[in-house]
Amino acid sequence: MTQLRKGTRLRHGVGGQAGEPGAVAAVEQSLARLTQVEPQLSAFNTVMAERALDRARALDASAPIGPLHGVPVALKDNLCTAGVPTTASSKILSGFVPPYTATAVERLEAAGAIVIGKTNLDEFGMGSSTENSALGATRNPWDLTRTPGGSSGGSAAAVAARVVPIALGSDTGGSIRQPAGLCGIVGLKPTYGRVSRYGLLAFASSLDHIGPLTTTVADAAVAFSVIGGFDPRDSTSSSEPMPDLHAALTGDVNGLRIGVPRAFLGEGVDASVLEAFASALNVFAARGARIVDIDLPHAGHGIPIYYLICTAEASSNLARYDGVRYGHRTRLQKDDTLQHMYERTRDEGFGAEVKRRIMLGTYVLSAGYYDAYYLKAQQVRTLVRRDYDRAFETVDVVATPTTPTPAFKLGEKTSDPVQMYLNDIFTVSANLTGLPSISIPCGFASPALPLGLQLTGRLFDEATLLRAADAFQRDTTFHTNAPSLAEATEGKPLDA
Ligand code: GLN
Repeated sequence: MTQLRKGTRLRHGVGGQAGEPGAVAAVEQSLARLTQVEPQLSAFNTVMAERALDRARALDASAPIGPLHGVPVALKDNLCTAGVPTTASSKILSGFVPPYTATAVERLEAAGAIVIGKTNLDEFGMGSSTENSALGATRNPWDLTRTPGGSSGGSAAAVAARVVPIALGSDTGGSIRQPAGLCGIVGLKPTYGRVSRYGLLAFASSLDHIGPLTTTVADAAVAFSVIGGFDPRDSTSSSEPMPDLHAALTGDVNGLRIGVPRAFLGEGVDASVLEAFASALNVFAARGARIVDIDLPHAGHGIPIYYLICTAEASSNLARYDGVRYGHRTRLQKDDTLQHMYERTRDEGFGAEVKRRIMLGTYVLSAGYYDAYYLKAQQVRTLVRRDYDRAFETVDVVATPTTPTPAFKLGEKTSDPVQMYLNDIFTVSANLTGLPSISIPCGFASPALPLGLQLTGRLFDEATLLRAADAFQRDTTFHTNAPSLAEATEGKPLDA
């Protein structure tokens, strides 16, 4: 298993080197690990063992087809996979099998990756803990009583537990970076428009992004290079050329200016988080980077703006789930009208958080409130963007913690949606602005709960962002620590 988590290995491509185990061996190893840890984690909605092994055999019989030849990967279950159920962890999509595959997935497979399964999420990506899943919560591999973060919690747990070296997630307000931070791995949200959203089940289209979760920045760079780039099937896809990331990861951060929005780091942030953050900045300083205080005066409004815009967009996007075209339909009763069918289907199919957001979103878009809420939120969104534009005149990347606290206990925040929303304080800005942003492991709270450092870069400047993040990993070992769950809990059934 140790082989599977080495960053350098992916750079050269599994199966492409003499002495590398083949694709079948890699998939068998991955499936064995999955079988071992899945009873503890509940990270997977679907396991595609036969399909994966068939593909592995075909790849072993062929010359290397790309940089991910024979690498097992997992996909968040809101990415469409032709012929394989795609649920968004929602009852409303039960029985839905997409007729096509998401572009990002197609590109991973074209590069030789082998999908071994689809991972759990908060229903439609709405949440920060993976507890809003119709299929039950995923557990954090570092502490099974805690959340892995969300909404890409299944993908993060699978990578952290070394089931797969790469998983895809989606990030609308932090859903790649938060679970990456809380599970001690790397999570990259690229610039808006970099990775095609074709085939991603939409939550909030102006905020949704797809990106990789990995253990090393080098692996994230490889995965991003594979899935990124223009796609005519997504009208918001950018034709900006992709950076040469292989050339970018030099380890050199001498003179790099790292902006720290001090005023934004106060209230509600755990002492362990602030301590790890301060030590992380010292690592950069020791490599010659300059730490510069900056001001982001509107960033504090991020959460209210985000929850106005994402609910508005969600209420529109989720209107399509009506019992006619996809998934679940209520059992029809005598005298039912079409309206009854719609209402009961949606009532039965959506969970509480999704309903809350559809109602909020419908409200903020309604004639009497549009100007006061939705329009105002869009205006403040522009102010947040300007804060960052101004900051990037004097710094090259912006650093904050990824989350205000380490992983919290399962059940701790489920009865208070606002407490759950507050986890997103550091992550939503990059969705509102479209800026590229990454979480990397930067320390541990006591006891062993991982903490993330978030770096945010200029639009389309993933090269600088990844160079900084990779340089940090050259001087630290946080990312090499794996949770010991298999040894500690193997065979022990957990109670709910
Ligand atoms: N926690 C945020 C929300 O609940 C972000 C989720 C996401 O990025 N998909 O909306």
